[in-house]
Amino acid sequence: MKNVIFVAPPAAGKGTCSEALKNKFGYKHISTGDLLREAKMKGDDLGQKIASLIDSGKLVGDDIVLELLSRELKNMDKDKLFILDGYPRNIAQAKTLDQLFVDLQVSDFVVIYLEIDFEKALNRTLGRLTCPNCNKGYNKYSTLLKPKKDGICDDCGTSLVSRSDDTKETFKIRYDTYMEQTKPIIDYYKDKDLLKVIDATQNVDDIINEIERVIS
Ligand code: AMP
Repeated sequence: MKNVIFVAPPAAGKGTCSEALKNKFGYKHISTGDLLREAKMKGDDLGQKIASLIDSGKLVGDDIVLELLSRELKNMDKDKLFILDGYPRNIAQAKTLDQLFVDLQVSDFVVIYLEIDFEKALNRTLGRLTCPNCNKGYNKYSTLLKPKKDGICDDCGTSLVSRSDDTKETFKIRYDTYMEQTKPIIDYYKDKDLLKVIDATQNVDDIINEIERVIS
């Protein structure tokens, strides 16, 4: 099995796929969005700076994200496989990651591009719900992903919440940011022959089956 890097527009399903792979194969799921949201919750100066960037749909500075990410990678069990969900997000981060992988002797990985168009990603964004207690993700517009009871986590019974950046206005800015800064890394990895493209509009089980073929 290989380590996985997900590259995708917002709401393509990186988090959902990562959780499925974590549960099925024991991957460590490293989401830079989750790490930043944790840092934001601290409410200190750095947390407030992160909050204003996330809530305006912009990228957080490379140095801040790298510090959080490298701490996770360096502290993890070396025998465990990992998924990077949300990193890299621009060419500079992709180059930094190349160096980090050299330092950490990581060589076996695949980059999976989850492909979805603007309208479908927007629809998913507006339906997305998360459990603030156990972090499980749901979508009220998806038959497979909606909670059994409206607005309540199936696993722990906590009331589900929407992310503060999951509004229509912020989504548009995040999508533009993706097109300008993140999409170029698709060619970066294609040129290195590391890229696999998966249609993210299929149902979750079919996406996971395709990912399994790619990582095996
Ligand atoms: P996500 O949970 O992946 O959708 O990320 C939510 C937000 O966190 C993004 O819109 C960015 O503001 C920020 N973020 C996450 N990952 C990165 C990254 N690698 N570089 C910069 N900002 C990031």
